[in-house]
Amino acid sequence: MQMNYVTTICPYCGTGCALNLVVRDGKTVGVAPSNRSPVCSGKLCSRGLRAAQALDEARIKQPFVKGEPADWDAAIGKAAELKKFAAGEVAVITSARLTNENQFLVQKFAKELGAVIGVVNGGTGSSTTTLNEIRDADVILALGDVMKALPLTGNKILLAKEKGARILYIGPQSYTAVQADTVEISDEFAELPPGFSTLLKNAARPVVVYLANDAAAAAFAAGLKINAAVLYDTNNGRGTAAMGITPLSLPETVKAAFIIAETPEMEKDIYADLLEKLDSLELSIVAASSETSLSGIADIVLPVSALHESEGTVTNWEGRIQKIKQAVASPDGVKPLADVLVDLAGKVGISIPTGTPEEIYTALAAEVPVFAEVSYEQITKPEGVYLREA
Ligand code: SF4
Repeated sequence: MQMNYVTTICPYCGTGCALNLVVRDGKTVGVAPSNRSPVCSGKLCSRGLRAAQALDEARIKQPFVKGEPADWDAAIGKAAELKKFAAGEVAVITSARLTNENQFLVQKFAKELGAVIGVVNGGTGSSTTTLNEIRDADVILALGDVMKALPLTGNKILLAKEKGARILYIGPQSYTAVQADTVEISDEFAELPPGFSTLLKNAARPVVVYLANDAAAAAFAAGLKINAAVLYDTNNGRGTAAMGITPLSLPETVKAAFIIAETPEMEKDIYADLLEKLDSLELSIVAASSETSLSGIADIVLPVSALHESEGTVTNWEGRIQKIKQAVASPDGVKPLADVLVDLAGKVGISIPTGTPEEIYTALAAEVPVFAEVSYEQITKPEGVYLREA
């Protein structure tokens, strides 16, 4: 029996906690915290601790065409019917859970194809503060339930409270998790209550914290003119946004969709809107590592490697780029997303970059300005490296 530990990044929320995947005989069998990461200082939430089991649930292990098992040649051949559609008739809907490198390739694929591109579980905006600045804040205004979405970012709010910070909350439910001063406001943020306003005005280190997919909170926070933590609840939402890929619902003009549905169990209802529209499309292709409602009805399903079977980088909500390490090989019948994109690109007559994750990262850094001054080698540091704008 051979056992080893692979230090990588939690695949769930945008806090970006480091964890050690315990690998025995080529399978992930457990998770141990990583003490070397300043992001989480040896802690993990219950989701992170379950990662080893969850990553292997409901895996798709072979391609399907119209619900029937198919070989890769047949599935890619059928998917190449994408080339029949005019520019603008194809949508590429990606996931904010891909590595930066895979996201870059998806974006290239969409651009070369003339497709519109968007993300289903993403957000917009960048932070002007960090995890440690939340911990050291003296007044924190939380807009919405950030504790639930990003538990170990929430932990920094708890630490700040322990050190005497006032925690203010505006949102649809009471914020008992931190016993905050609470104002319940259905779904909208209106005026800042006078007491909150005074506390923020007199604070030395105030921070406002909200979710990147909450447009109302973002607009409200912008008016405060204080440091903001814009939290992505996906492991690479910030990297995805940094590439200019923003949330998109399927435009009416679209006749074919290529959807990269990298989605953990708790997030599967994000496809409700797409599910309604999928039937009306002439062609729907889903690439995913595990089953979702979408893979059940798509014309073509392409099984791709999960995050713990891949190498690359992800960017947490702070803008900290960190390294993902491959812990295990993909199951037989499953291919890396990069290989699938290159194969499909060849079949539809377009070309996208090829190479190792390091080579793809280098191409990304040459094109996307915020990555420009960070080399792949620098990212191997346990603390990662911040995007240039962070
Ligand atoms: S807080 Fe987020 S990144 Fe950290 S262990 Fe939990 S789900 Fe993973």
